[in-house]
Amino acid sequence: MPEGVKYEDLKNQVDRVSKAFEQEFGRFARFRTSADGLSLPEAESLMRELGEARTRHTGKKSELAAVKKLIGRVAPEERASFGQLVQQLEAEIASAVEEVEATLRDFISSAQIERERIDVTLPGRRVRRGHLHPITLLRERIEDIFVSLGYAIEDDREIETDYYNFDALNIPEGHPARASQDTFYTTDGFALRSQTSTVQIHAMERRTAPLRMIAPGRVFRRDTPDATHNPMFFQVEGLCVDRGITMAHLKGTLSEFVHRLFGPEIRTRFRPSYFPFTEPSAEMDYSCFKCGGAGCRTCKGSGWIELGGCGMVHPNVLRAVKIDPEEFSGFAFGFGLDRMAALMYKLDDIRLLFENDVRFLEQFN
Ligand SMILES: [Zn+2]
Repeated sequence: MPEGVKYEDLKNQVDRVSKAFEQEFGRFARFRTSADGLSLPEAESLMRELGEARTRHTGKKSELAAVKKLIGRVAPEERASFGQLVQQLEAEIASAVEEVEATLRDFISSAQIERERIDVTLPGRRVRRGHLHPITLLRERIEDIFVSLGYAIEDDREIETDYYNFDALNIPEGHPARASQDTFYTTDGFALRSQTSTVQIHAMERRTAPLRMIAPGRVFRRDTPDATHNPMFFQVEGLCVDRGITMAHLKGTLSEFVHRLFGPEIRTRFRPSYFPFTEPSAEMDYSCFKCGGAGCRTCKGSGWIELGGCGMVHPNVLRAVKIDPEEFSGFAFGFGLDRMAALMYKLDDIRLLFENDVRFLEQFN
């Protein structure tokens, strides 16, 4: 052992290191078992400071490291006990720091989980559900009824040539229905269809007889909008062509339809009428679903509500689509959805249906 390195001095040096650590560790010591009461940022900064303290007291440039270097210079007989002393101090420091570190680490990790936790018991943000338009609701009910009666649903174009809108429907040139004040024409001479009967022609051309179909769709007429008129509205067209079809089939089918839509107590009546594409033609009424025929506001006191026009398909219409009227006969009908929806949903004004005010539309389901 070199002169001047006295065991006593070394031991004092170890004590000094120990005291210095204890002094600094004092403020961490209370977190040995619990970090309760700390905030997350406080705990995180304590953790950082504790790491710095450890480096300061046990790192390569610490006084403890300097003391360790002296172990080899202690007299051999005292070296073991001195070495033990230093190691013990080092172990004490390490375990004290680790204890607090473990507590802080646990605390920080559960505080972070707490901060990021999703409360699954909170009510979710509800997705706003849309509503079907009242016209769509009614159209779907009508489609269901006719599909169950064996009818196909046809859809077709809304812009038509004069041929499909008029000629093929037995509406000749000069007929008042062709007047331009009733129909929207494009500059190229096409017409926005003024009735869904155009779909009859397309369907018969494509599928020929026998056939049963309905065609719900939009039609256009030059009307000034008011409480009961709109230049755009919805119709449902129906057509049945087969061998031996008579007016009795027409009456039976439409009666069945109103029974299924409004109830079995509904009565029907047919009034003679005229349409170019049917012969004979009729208007069909059904007894008021609200008052049962006694007369009320819905039926304007008459007890009857008008459904629409119908009749036996005119032989000229069958000929236009190359169906032999000697072999086949058929009936057709058409009615408006808008006024029916207005009656069913008690609307004073059919324009409400197309103002697209969600507050209004979402009331119906
Ligand atoms: Zn009534």
